Amino acid sequence: MSLAERWRAARPSAAGVHVDSAACSRQSFAVIDAAASHARHEAEVGGYVAAEAAAPVLDAGRAAVRALTGRTDADVVFTTGSGHALDLLLAGWRGERTLACLPGEYGPNLMIMAANGFEMRHLPVDATGRLVVDEAATALESDPPALVHLTALGSHRGVRQPLAEFAAVCRQVGVPLIVDAAQALGHVDCAVGADATYSSSRKWMAGPRGVGVLAVRPGLLPPEALGRLDHVEANVAARVAFSVAIGEHLSAGPELVRTRLATVGRLTRETLADVPGWRVVEPADEPTAITTLESVDGLDPHRVRLWLIAERGVVTTAVGIERAPLELRVPALRISPHVDVTPDDLDVLVAALGAASLSRA
Ligand SMILES: *Cc1c(COP(=O)(O)O)cnc(C)c1O
Repeated sequence: MSLAERWRAARPSAAGVHVDSAACSRQSFAVIDAAASHARHEAEVGGYVAAEAAAPVLDAGRAAVRALTGRTDADVVFTTGSGHALDLLLAGWRGERTLACLPGEYGPNLMIMAANGFEMRHLPVDATGRLVVDEAATALESDPPALVHLTALGSHRGVRQPLAEFAAVCRQVGVPLIVDAAQALGHVDCAVGADATYSSSRKWMAGPRGVGVLAVRPGLLPPEALGRLDHVEANVAARVAFSVAIGEHLSAGPELVRTRLATVGRLTRETLADVPGWRVVEPADEPTAITTLESVDGLDPHRVRLWLIAERGVVTTAVGIERAPLELRVPALRISPHVDVTPDDLDVLVAALGAASLSRA
């Protein structure tokens, strides 16, 4: 069986066409069962005893995150998501509160940065929103901020940022690099040894909702910044299930998954290239599985999304400009299939988009 066939066979069948992994992937039977088994174990032995018994699974999850972020020494903590991880990190930071990020930075991240009193400046990008590494190097050298934050792959556009090259620049300049890997983990290579990397469970890793992870170089934050978390109530079943999902990703082969997702993105953009009324935003061969479409006839992606679900059982995302308020000019419809998408699925999507346009959804 191919990776795509194994991935599809490992989970319940979709009720329609699910091309929405950038929002929330479909969990496997094993991941769903892991959460249910943990809840059952809590009922049998008690929630706190069950949590202790689950420690080895959680340790394996943390070790896998160290491997995927290229930081074998990292302190890894589970969070409730990516936003929570960024907030913990910035709240715990003891240095000067200046930070450089992309103009296409994720809107909710900008709010977390502002709420933590950070003064933001922007890194240079090209017309697609991709970081221009040599210009960024010059800017960082001449006036280094206290921290650099890079969203390695955005929510609003499937453009892969030059993470490895930029990590080398940050190391050279001596500025700590924080990576938002919400869309990048399990999708593009994040093993660059950034000073901190955080991500969400439910996206490309296909874990449950409501859980995330933060991996931090020891010494970046004072010890109490993360230690407090141990005493905060948590959904242990979700952490266990996330750990199982990461394990499934490792056993599927991260490189195989990345290659397949790049192929899926190319296939999606080729199939959507000629759909009347829509324009594909990303370069056709961008090595990610996130494709965004802009309506050339002024259709509202939020209404189109609802129409596609209600009338055709096709699940996509409407991306409002608040996702990247300093970069997006118009809202977009996001198509984000996982490794198992078939040409038939994409044909259903194309036909559905055509019908949505005709009905002026
Ligand atoms: C989804 C997303 C987040 C927020 O993740 P949560 O787990 O919902 O907090 C942050 N950054 C990017 C790029 C995202 O796509």
